[in-house]
Amino acid sequence: MGFSAETRVDLARFWSTIERSADIGQGRPGGLARLTLTDSDKEIRDQFVAWCQDAGLSVEIDEMGNIFGRRSGLDDSLAPILIGSHLDTQINGGRFDGIAGVLAGLELVRSLNDAGHVTRRPIVIVDWTNEEGARFSPPMVASGVFVGSYGVDWAHDLIADDGARFGSELERIGYRGDLPCKAGDIDAYFELHIEQGPILDAEGREVGVVTGGYPSYGMRVMFKGKTAHTGPTPMDLRHNALIAGARWLTAVDDIGWEFAVHDGKATGSRLAAWPNKPGILSESAQCVADVRHPDPITARVMAEKMRRAAQSAAAMAGCEVEVEDEWTWGGDIFDADLIGLVRDEAVRQGWNWRDIQSQAGHDAYHMATHCPTAMIFTPCKGGITHNSEENCDPEDFRAGLNMLLHAVVRRADR
Ligand SMILES: [Zn+2]
Repeated sequence: MGFSAETRVDLARFWSTIERSADIGQGRPGGLARLTLTDSDKEIRDQFVAWCQDAGLSVEIDEMGNIFGRRSGLDDSLAPILIGSHLDTQINGGRFDGIAGVLAGLELVRSLNDAGHVTRRPIVIVDWTNEEGARFSPPMVASGVFVGSYGVDWAHDLIADDGARFGSELERIGYRGDLPCKAGDIDAYFELHIEQGPILDAEGREVGVVTGGYPSYGMRVMFKGKTAHTGPTPMDLRHNALIAGARWLTAVDDIGWEFAVHDGKATGSRLAAWPNKPGILSESAQCVADVRHPDPITARVMAEKMRRAAQSAAAMAGCEVEVEDEWTWGGDIFDADLIGLVRDEAVRQGWNWRDIQSQAGHDAYHMATHCPTAMIFTPCKGGITHNSEENCDPEDFRAGLNMLLHAVVRRADR
């Protein structure tokens, strides 16, 4: 039948892969708990590999467990187009976060197969390992290794709260591949993702063209105190790390409220105290927090307030504080030409669209440090995500999938 400007994806076929994925690693009703490198992650990986092979793709696994399904182009010496996202979920995750982006790549390839169209450049679909960071911190670690932000050995030695080692879990499920985890020459990277926010749904938009991400700063800090009896220990002799951590996280939350009027956000997401028992003051408390703001300077100010709040929280509780890790992401990182291409398809195909900024982290942020990158956001009900109630209809993907299809083909046929 040939490929033309009017070619469209098969939405029902895409949806059937979403439904099959939703069978694997079920969590709370309607949701998924498919943590990275668990048995259910292996099961969806096996299914994804089978789908890729059925679609005629050659499959390769790298040493971080990233899965690449490659469709040859007319000229395989040219740098490929990558389309990716992640198949792992949060502990109380939904059926669409990340998954829709990987399966969008699969549907794109199937649509090209139907049309009998071979693009000039190769097209590669990617499932990135451990995007969520729900089991191994940090999140987006495997795309980070891919672009050289982290070392492979360092990542293999990450330890989960359940005591498992990243590299050993990769081997256990059979997904520690031979391919070096190192990005070569890549022409462009595309990622379709549910918005994970309420804007598109509230405005009745069919799709969002992502222009960048909220500048964001995160920290993992360790408060160090001393164990002592909760009864006789006088207040001025206490070094309760739990209290230092709690003070810091509430201070970070206050920073969020302080800047909320211009959509600033601050999150305390982790407090792991030890021994965390009645009758004893805590010796240590590991905490994670982050701040985000659409304005880069304000985001920096919020980050500095977050840092200083850690010092004063420690002082108030008579504890020491050590910053274990700091990270930043977001900003105007996406490629103007690719954004223009995606936007052009939104207009040409006649969707109700808008420009939008991402407020969540994505593998695309790492990829943007390596090659021209763009993202497409699709609506999700009420913006609910990282929750089993995350929900979308097939129609929520119609615009995004078809924009992705044509933007990728136009780029790949250059
Ligand atoms: Zn995601």
